[in-house]
Amino acid sequence: MRVTVLGAGVVGVTSAWYLAADGHEVTVIERQSLPAQETSFANGGQISVSHAEPWANPKTPLKALKWMWREDAPLLWRWRADPAQWAWGLRFLRECTAARARANVGAIVRLGLSSRVALKSLRTELALEYDHLERGILHFYTDPREFEHALLQAALMREYGCERMPKTAAECLAIEPALADSRIPVIGGTYTASDESGDARRFTDSLARHATARGVRFRYDETVTALLREGGRVTGVRLASGECLGADMTVVALGSYSPLLLRPLGVRLPVYPAKGYSATLALSDGVAAPTVSLTDDGHKMVFSRLGQSLRVAGTAEFNGYDTSLNAARCEALLRRTREIFPALAAVSKVDYWAGLRPATPSNVPLIGDMTTAGLAGLWLNTGHGTLGWTLACGSARLLADLAAGRDPGLDAGPYRF
Ligand SMILES: Cc1cc2nc3c(=O)[nH]c(=O)nc-3n(C[C@H](O)[C@H](O)[C@H](O)COP(=O)(O)OP(=O)(O)OC[C@H]3O[C@@H](n4cnc5c(N)ncnc54)[C@H](O)[C@@H]3O)c2cc1C
Repeated sequence: MRVTVLGAGVVGVTSAWYLAADGHEVTVIERQSLPAQETSFANGGQISVSHAEPWANPKTPLKALKWMWREDAPLLWRWRADPAQWAWGLRFLRECTAARARANVGAIVRLGLSSRVALKSLRTELALEYDHLERGILHFYTDPREFEHALLQAALMREYGCERMPKTAAECLAIEPALADSRIPVIGGTYTASDESGDARRFTDSLARHATARGVRFRYDETVTALLREGGRVTGVRLASGECLGADMTVVALGSYSPLLLRPLGVRLPVYPAKGYSATLALSDGVAAPTVSLTDDGHKMVFSRLGQSLRVAGTAEFNGYDTSLNAARCEALLRRTREIFPALAAVSKVDYWAGLRPATPSNVPLIGDMTTAGLAGLWLNTGHGTLGWTLACGSARLLADLAAGRDPGLDAGPYRF
């Protein structure tokens, strides 16, 4: 088949890789000059199946209300005159029941586990370099109520096959000694030894090179302006240059921008940008910085060691497509980092970044074809929210399996639009 993949973030590039591996003739269209320049650029770096609890859970609505007027809140909803934001918010509330949250954890863990296996085998096959570490992920807690809730979540994830194990405070410090200096004592945690970390941008860039060598054509600096439709079929795309590009299969992997391309066809994808921040701290030799990837659940922050840098990332802000840096939110990331790792107060070089997570209300991505919506030939691989790096390889492999009519080895139902 002639396949066009829209977007060269981590999801688009992995999609192109697996589709090309099946012998398809693949072209990737990307508006930036390089791969992974938008949301996949400087994320938290975690391959975290253990982070499968979606934001939509019974505890969130009350927390979000309390945080609504705090400029530095971990999760901040800014009201906009935007029907898409309101519709998304209502769907998000519907996903906050215990039963929905439980089902969504199951769907995310299953895809996450298959994704981690796919990533490992790609790494073996291609010798990809992306500062990856296989030292597990430690969720740590400084608040007893958060810890109690985490133990229940960890038990649920173990039911689905993710080995997220409870740890005492002493065990947490043994796993990551840099936590011993924390000004706020760590009271316990959970540890998932099989989780990993690494730089999503470097991975995507490296895989794009391998894909090029395999015959995938990357067209950078080209913006897709419309999907071309003939009757019940999508036949290709129009570019900003006016050029029309025909395809048998068109894959939408445009991250937060995916719904904008589908709206003119009458499809309202439940994907909304959830802005997050990261700070990358340049480390000098010998500084007491963590090497195990960490999650500070109560503050919605993660820490990943990427070579000689520490990537700190997190917080969520629902405020449309704005990617400007808010000083209060940058400061909140750094403040908490210095509370937990006082030695890092000496770091003077910090690079801030903000990106838009393509969030579905459930945090379960949308993967599969759109034939039943009257759009044969159109495929989705989008809406990966907080876990696009974790789920990328598994999502792309699932997409390729579905396109080939192969048994993907997991129920694809939860990911269908
Ligand atoms: C602060 C933060 C921390 C995060 N931490 C983690 C983490 O630790 N682990 C994890 O698993 N996930 C994490 N994520 C989530 C993860 O980064 C995203 O889910 C993932 O990057 C989404 O990838 P994508 O390819 O779908 O989107 P993108 O990377 O945004 O790719 C979409 C591409 O489409 C292109 N594009 C858009 N519109 C057009 C158009 N009209 N024409 C042509 N090209 C177009 C864009 O330029 C872009 O390159 C984090 C996100 C943030 C913001």
